[in-house]
Amino acid sequence: EGEEHSSKKTDDYLYQLDLENALHYSMNNEISLTKSINGEKMEALRKYLAVLTAYFPLRRGNTYLEVIRDVVKSRSTMTGEEFSQLAKTTEEVMSPVYSGAPHQWIGCKGSTNSYRGYPCGLWTMFHMLTVNFALEPNKVPRADFSQDPTAVLRAMHGYIGTFFGCADCAAHFVEMAGKNKIFDAHSRDEAVLWLWRAHNQVNARLSGDATEDPEHKKIQYPAIEHCPACRYVNGSWNEEEVLQYLKTKYSYSSIKYDGIS
Ligand code: FAD
Repeated sequence: EGEEHSSKKTDDYLYQLDLENALHYSMNNEISLTKSINGEKMEALRKYLAVLTAYFPLRRGNTYLEVIRDVVKSRSTMTGEEFSQLAKTTEEVMSPVYSGAPHQWIGCKGSTNSYRGYPCGLWTMFHMLTVNFALEPNKVPRADFSQDPTAVLRAMHGYIGTFFGCADCAAHFVEMAGKNKIFDAHSRDEAVLWLWRAHNQVNARLSGDATEDPEHKKIQYPAIEHCPACRYVNGSWNEEEVLQYLKTKYSYSSIKYDGIS
């Protein structure tokens, strides 16, 4: 019993419920906080929806996302409130879009409710998107973004800068994106590694911060025990191994459906 518990705690898996909870909160609760969506904000929303429609793995297919994407495409402006209404009605009409209620976080579960959850889910979702974009370049061959290796990073940059509810986090991220030259990634693999490096920079900054869950310390990811080959003996990263690790962890084929009836 005890052994099983401790081995569970150090697992590093990708859960469908975490991805879906993040998507759901984003669509139904977060985008709606933006009063008026037009101009650059509308552009950010469109790019986000394009990438989600192409690469988010909803269990019953992505018609729900296609419908929302197409409605948004046909509008030059809408309020955040209208958007969340659209998300809610589309979800109802197409039910069931999401799996398993109640919506418990699994990989992103905090030791109390004030820790982890949505921000963790959002990171997880964007890592998953960069990885599957790299693994399946021809999934949607004629998509507007398919020639751009930074398409997922662009969608993330636009989403975080425009809609992410934590304004300080968004400002930090956009500043870091500029310094780290987010749009210089020349391949989809480089984009995967760009996001991994950026996330580790955030982990380093937040290590020991009041927002850190004491039971889930910020580490330089991945942990040595999950990927011994990811570090050379001198401690520096072996990025080829890191890339392989990320491609395995975040690929569709690794998704765990535990907790879903
Ligand atoms: P998270 O950091 O949320 O990570 C989620 C999961 O991703 C981890 O459990 C792990 O499995 C995996 N992971 C961790 N590191 C990597 C990596 N390098 N590459 C791939 N996978 C990895 N909070 C603040 O207080 N201040 C901020 O400025 C801030 N900025 C943020 C910016 C963004 C864009 C986002 C999405 C969140 C930000 N947050 C910020 C929230 C913070 O980063 C964490 O999400 C939150 O503290 C919860 O941490 P966590 O322990 O669940 O792990």
